[in-house]
Amino acid sequence: MAIEMDFWFTETVNDIVGNTIKVKERIFSGRSEYQEIEIVDTYHYGRTLILEGSVQLTEKDEFTYHEMISHIPLFTHPNPERVLVIGGGDGGTIREVMKHPTVIQAQLAEIDPLVIEKSKQFLPFVSCELENPRVEIIIQDGMQYVKHHKGIFDVVLIDSPDPVGPAVGLYQKEFFEDVHKALKDDGIMVGQSESPFFDQTIVRPLYTILKPLFPIRKMYLAPVPSYPSGLWSFVFCSKRYDPILHYRLEDFHRLNLKTRYYNEAIHQAAFALPNFIQELIA
Ligand code: SAM
Repeated sequence: MAIEMDFWFTETVNDIVGNTIKVKERIFSGRSEYQEIEIVDTYHYGRTLILEGSVQLTEKDEFTYHEMISHIPLFTHPNPERVLVIGGGDGGTIREVMKHPTVIQAQLAEIDPLVIEKSKQFLPFVSCELENPRVEIIIQDGMQYVKHHKGIFDVVLIDSPDPVGPAVGLYQKEFFEDVHKALKDDGIMVGQSESPFFDQTIVRPLYTILKPLFPIRKMYLAPVPSYPSGLWSFVFCSKRYDPILHYRLEDFHRLNLKTRYYNEAIHQAAFALPNFIQELIA
């Protein structure tokens, strides 16, 4: 493969706005059964994984997303032992989940083995815990996987791409009903829920679907500069535990985790929402 150097990559949203990054070198480019996969090295963000033209993670800012999707639910549940990650084949979420000693087993249900293979090869900073014996990798559509597993997970994390291709169903009612059933009676589900600035047509129906399913349903926020608009949201859904009331602050201090974004103040402040977002998800 000829190595392409120095070009600009733009991720567009709705064909009217975009995020542009200067690429130093193309590292991998290929097509799996499911999607176009690209790994590039960039001047500002370092190594970057792009699926179907959409940035999934960058070396420089992936920590905010992966720490926030994991530690908020895992420091809320009193004893998270069985965790399921849906999507997330790069391994960044699993890396953070593995920092929790209560977790006996984390399963990763990823549809595309090529994402896992290329992440292991070129993105070791996120894929570094995929070989951990506490991790089981299942190459399967996450929708099918949850359909056939009932009442067994303490925490389910939905680390999905935008709702395109095989991920469309990961934003639909039937899937969330199955996730609800796959959780134990006191289980927690957290998913990435797109940009509250740019993706309102995705955010609003998503929160409407989830409202009748979970008694506790909240949004929290984190910055991810390489994602469109830079402000990212996560949906926290829980059958029993509230992220503020049941926060295991002492365990967080006792574990002395090496985190770069997540801390005690962020755990609480991330749930503070500006008025336009409160209206969006009301
Ligand atoms: N952090 C990312 C973001 O917000 O853009 C998501 C990263 S992760 C790479 C997303 C993964 O979900 C991809 O590897 C993709 O193959 C996988 N995926 C898409 N649809 C899926 C499905 N139905 N079941 C399981 N995995 C799926």
